[in-house]
This record gives sequence, C-alpha cells and structure tokens, in this order.
Amino acid sequence: MTPFEAAQFYFTRAADELGLPDSMRRRLLVAKREVQVQVTIEMDSGEIVTFIGYRVQHDNSRGPMKGGFRYHPQVDLDEVRSLAALMTLKTAVVNIPYGGAKGGIAVDVHKLSVRELERLTRKFIDALHDVIGPDIDIPAPDMGTDSRVMAWIMNQYNKYHGFNPGVVTGKPAEYYGIPGREEATGRGVGIVTLKVLGRLGRKPPQTRVAIQGFGNVGSHTAKFLRDAECKVVAISDASGGFYRADGIDVLAAIRYSNQNNRSLAGYTGADHITNAELLEMDVDILIPAALGGVIDESNAERIKAPIIIEAANEPIRPEADHTLAERGVLILPDVLANAGGVTVSYFEWAQNRQHYKWNLDRVRQELERGMTQAFETVWDEAKQRKVSLRTAAYVVGLERVAKATTLAGLE
Ligand code: NAD
Repeated sequence: MTPFEAAQFYFTRAADELGLPDSMRRRLLVAKREVQVQVTIEMDSGEIVTFIGYRVQHDNSRGPMKGGFRYHPQVDLDEVRSLAALMTLKTAVVNIPYGGAKGGIAVDVHKLSVRELERLTRKFIDALHDVIGPDIDIPAPDMGTDSRVMAWIMNQYNKYHGFNPGVVTGKPAEYYGIPGREEATGRGVGIVTLKVLGRLGRKPPQTRVAIQGFGNVGSHTAKFLRDAECKVVAISDASGGFYRADGIDVLAAIRYSNQNNRSLAGYTGADHITNAELLEMDVDILIPAALGGVIDESNAERIKAPIIIEAANEPIRPEADHTLAERGVLILPDVLANAGGVTVSYFEWAQNRQHYKWNLDRVRQELERGMTQAFETVWDEAKQRKVSLRTAAYVVGLERVAKATTLAGLE
C-alpha cells in the first residue's frame, strides 16, 4: 500500500463506522488543491540544480489549511497527499479551527549549506506565495525544516504581501514565534503517553521506553518522559541506535547531538544498536519518532512492546497495524499523539493576529488541556464503540469535518 492508500484504508474504516454516504466520502478524500512546483537554485559551487516541491491543500471546511513543510529525499506527491489528509483529521481531533495541508521538497538537507537551504526555501515561497496565506494555508516545520526555515518563509512571503506573521508557524520565539512551540510536539507525545500509563495503571519509574528518531520530536519526547521519571533505555537517529539498561542520560545525549550537527554519530554514553534492533526491543513503550512506514509486515511479528505511541506520522503500515492489533498491542495513533505541535501552532497564529503574547507556562498549560481533552474524547469513543484508538480518533475527526462540510452547503 502506498502512504495515501493507507490513509484511505483507515479513513474508510472510520467512514463505515459512521455510516457516511459515498458522496461525502469522496468529497472528504479528494484534496481541494494539489500544487507541484519547480525550485531551481544556484548552489554555492555555481552549479544550477532543480528540485521538485509540493503543496497539497486537503480540506478547509473547519478553517484555514494547516500543515508542515518536509524536506527529505523521499518526499513525493503520494506521501504529501496522505500527510495532508492526516492533518485534516489531526486538527479536527484536537478541535482547533483549521483544515489540513502538507508540503515539502525532495531534497537531502544534510547536503546543503545554510545559504543553499535559505535560497531553496525562498525560491519555494516565490512559487507558492499566491496559494498560501494566514487565512488560506499556513505552513509549519516538519522533518528537515525548523524555526530558522520558518523565519525565512515569513520574510519571503512578506515581500509579496506585506507584514503577515501569521502566514507560517513554528517561527523562532524571538521572531514572531511563541515560547514552547519547538518542544510542543514532543511534549504533547509525552503528555498522552502519561495518560495511557495512567489508564493502564502503570507507573512511570517502572516504564522502559525506546524512541526512534532524535530530532525535534524524539529529543523533546525523551526529555519530557525522563523528567516524568520514565526510563528511556534506547534512542536512535539516522546514524544508528543506542541502548543502556539503566537508562540513557537524555540531557547528555541532547547536548551531544546539538554539538554534533544534530547527530548522535559517535555518542559513547551507551551501547550501540541498530535501528531495526531498537524497534524490536523488549520495552514497555515504543515511540517511533522519525520516518513513516518503519513498522510493516516484515517486522510486525517481532515487535515486543505492548504499547506504541505514534510520534512520527504514519510509522505503522496498515498490514502491520492489523497484526499488532491481533496481538493486543495498544497503539496511540499519530493524529492524536503528535497533535501537540499543531495545537501550539494555533496559539502562535492566533497571537500573531492579535499582537498578543503568552508566556511559556501558559502555553504549556493550554497544551496540556488540549491534549488531555482530545485524549479523553478518543479513549471514551474507543471504549464506547469497541474499536481501536486509531479508528476512534478517525471517527472523532471525520465526524467533525463531515459536519462542517454539510453545514457549509454546496453552493
Ligand atoms: P527532525 O528532522 O527534527 O528529526 C528527524 C529524526 O529522525 C532525526 O533524528 C533523524 O536522524 C532521524 N531519522 C531520519 N531517518 C532515520 C532512519 N532511517 N532511521 C532512524 N532515524 C532516522 O524531524 P521531526 O520534526 O522530529 O519529525 C519526526 C517525525 O514527527 C516525522 O514523522 C514528522 O512528520 C512528525 N511530526 C513532526 C512535528 C513537528 O512539529 N516537528 C509535528 C507532528 C509530527
């Protein structure tokens, strides 16, 4: 199954549960607009290189469309399309007034200099500025992009349309951003992980956690869970994985990664393992926080963790989802688990428009409130309908989107 076929699969299961008519299913699945653009830049060497960029604007029935920009070699239209649909559901699950979108460029950012990255981003916005905007579609960070890239996006968009800080979120706190945005996705993952432990009557100090991916989401998730007294025994990034039975020194690993161009390569504070070994470890909680599709038919049978929290988008393929469900593995789905980022993005956007600012405590408090409310709604829906948490989350989101679509009418 391609990523979009997978999204369609889960969508159909929830649509069946809700008894949605075919006409509504098609309306909610087909994206409003899909844009592919050429992004040609001059490299530092003088070479001219052409990249391909995408933006898929999936749905705006509940508000302006919202979703990240991903810079990664594997980015293609099918992946972006599926992630855009996922965003529509995510914003609905956490009940913020947005639709869904996603975009990206097929590029290996590690091969770009800072100046090349900036040129690439500005050229991308030159190509997209007419179809995004604070009331239309608001990008944010995702894999391979960060607050620095968001600052360039705002600055480039403003050259065309005047001062509009609300055109993009995830900006640096010192440049129209909001304190706590950078940590928000990982913190949200941590908050709902503790909720799951609470519902299952498990205690954090007796909980061993393995986290794949040590970028924005993975590192902040690790820090939050370490602060909550969980034992983070394994971490990894693209360079490989690390295991320490007594618990990784998370703060030392973050320091090392920050000083080493955001890579754990060469870290000596734990034993070396592979990414495949990390996924199959005997831990209480597994948190994939890197790429999509890392758990598929080939390794689903060997996954030992009884709880999986989907910090990454689409880390489990539907075939594997089925195998894991049969084995009683509890999966907290991406549309809920990693919605903390878009929740704080919403605070940032609203405050950009009001020229008003919350402090970090207030941001964290409101994030906790939003994530807790969404978690409880989805958990209760799952119990009531006797379905998985994924189907329950899709049902909650889809019902809200379908309702808004119906209320808007056709003309
Ligand atoms: P990031 O670029 O900051 O970090 C990605 C991490 O994954 C890095 O540590 C990288 O080394 C690692 N990685 C890459 N390839 C890998 C591989 N083959 N095996 C193991 N690790 C690998 O990205 P991020 O923002 O942390 O995003 C991670 C995931 O979370 C993505 O799926 C993204 O869509 C999702 N997500 C991010 C946000 C956000 O606010 N940043 C919000 C929601 C969801």
